Amino acid sequence: MGRERLLLLHHATRRLLLLLPRSRGFSSSAGAAASSREPLHVCVVGSGPAGFYTADKMLKGHEEAQVDIIDRLPTPFGLVRSGVAPDHPETKIVVNQFSRVAANGRCSFYGNVTVGSDVSISELQKIYDVVVLAYGAESDRSLGIPGEDLRGIHSAREFVWWYNGHPDMCNLAPDLQSTDSAVVLGQGNVALDVARILLRCTSELAATDIADYAFDALRGNTIRKVYLVGRRGPVQAACTAKELREILGLKNVRVCIKEADLVTSTADEEEIRNSRIKRRVYELLSKAATAHKGYISNDQKELHFVFFRRPTRFLPAEDGSTVDAVQLEKTCLKDGVAGKPVAVGTGEFEDLKCGLVLKSIGYKSLPVEGLPFDNYRGVVPNLKGRVLSSESENATVESGLYVVGWLKRGPTGIVATNLHCAEETVAGILEDDKKGLFMGPGSKKQGRRGLLEILEQKNIRFVPFDGWEKIDSKEKMAGQLKNKPREKITTWDELLMAAN
Ligand code: NAP
Repeated sequence: MGRERLLLLHHATRRLLLLLPRSRGFSSSAGAAASSREPLHVCVVGSGPAGFYTADKMLKGHEEAQVDIIDRLPTPFGLVRSGVAPDHPETKIVVNQFSRVAANGRCSFYGNVTVGSDVSISELQKIYDVVVLAYGAESDRSLGIPGEDLRGIHSAREFVWWYNGHPDMCNLAPDLQSTDSAVVLGQGNVALDVARILLRCTSELAATDIADYAFDALRGNTIRKVYLVGRRGPVQAACTAKELREILGLKNVRVCIKEADLVTSTADEEEIRNSRIKRRVYELLSKAATAHKGYISNDQKELHFVFFRRPTRFLPAEDGSTVDAVQLEKTCLKDGVAGKPVAVGTGEFEDLKCGLVLKSIGYKSLPVEGLPFDNYRGVVPNLKGRVLSSESENATVESGLYVVGWLKRGPTGIVATNLHCAEETVAGILEDDKKGLFMGPGSKKQGRRGLLEILEQKNIRFVPFDGWEKIDSKEKMAGQLKNKPREKITTWDELLMAAN
């Protein structure tokens, strides 16, 4: 089912729920808090790590701050729920901290509210002193090569959202049963995540919060070989050592690396000397390339690291519509800008046969109407989190508008990177508040009351945090029956019903 169909269903559910007796939301606790003093009305758009760290820092940094967090999904926590791999439960513990933030009497959550369509940025600016954009990167970079829309080719984000039960991707249904080979393009940590999920014994995935349909599909999968393809060399691989060590240590997986690819140039050696992470990654790959392979069983899978190859086209199978191979061009490294070596094609090509391709070449943020956007970098132009009117040199600061997370700095960094990012943005907000920038004549804003009025007028049924808690407890109860931390609810309809 395509995204359009999903959206139709979502809207149909929303209409259906509108016919039910009206209340402010799917539950009742998200009303406006009464306060005798003038609050600073803050709206954070996006409830992923960047959004929640911002809310936390705002609440701690400003006693009168009243923080409303909006999310287009009925569920909070962004990438922690939809991005972090199911076999990395320790990374998800941070939701306990975020839930404590949401429980603060000065904080409210409004799920199922889409900024851009349900409420515009300019509407938010009219009712809040401060609007912080933290909606992340919900799209993908594209390769721009022929055949990219063949069946069997997905972005890694789509695949990750699929196995993590994101309601926009629950119907992706990647075909894991018609091929023995998958190609993952890119060698960052997301590439390692998707390769690991394809290769890990399903008995080890059974006790995770992986979506049930994904578990079933993986249990029956026929993929035996996964190729991780990088356009540069082992020294430039974008993954980090911990994640690499994990995939290299997977049970029943033979790692294949050509020793010739590990030969280093003088420039490589300098890179290794200057970066501990690169040195550790290179050492791990070198060790894996020469490791004793031991006993090979019949059901053993293979993980191939392919270096110095860039994709140039996807080739169709006989049916003309399904991917059958990726054409790769051999590359060599040349000096690039700021000392970063770039991959240059050598004119030598080879085809790598496969029936599944996952493009893991980076996430991409999307612009929202009325928001300055740097299309080249895929970020909102900003100065330490203060939104700028454009990316040009004479840009001006957009009063009361801030940005944080991947939308501010691009799609890089782990969950904790957003803590420092939020600190910087909040420091700017507090500084601007001290300067009195939010106290001009006639600047009294309605805040939460104004938002509730807009939602009421537009018949938008938001999901408050206690609506999410109902989803959460239903998921946990369903998970208990299967010995999993939770069984995720994965469709819009069911999520909205569960929140009620
Ligand atoms: P990434 O780390 O930026 O990696 C992107 C990969 O795509 C690189 O190998 C890059 O190669 C390649 N690439 C980009 N454009 C390409 C093109 N046109 N053709 C071929 N290859 C291309 O991004 P990511 O893997 O999406 O990860 C995003 C962030 O999330 C990262 O900071 C990552 O560490 C983090 N993350 C962390 C974890 C974890 O800690 N467990 C898990 C998942 C994600 P070049 O290097 O040559 O550009």
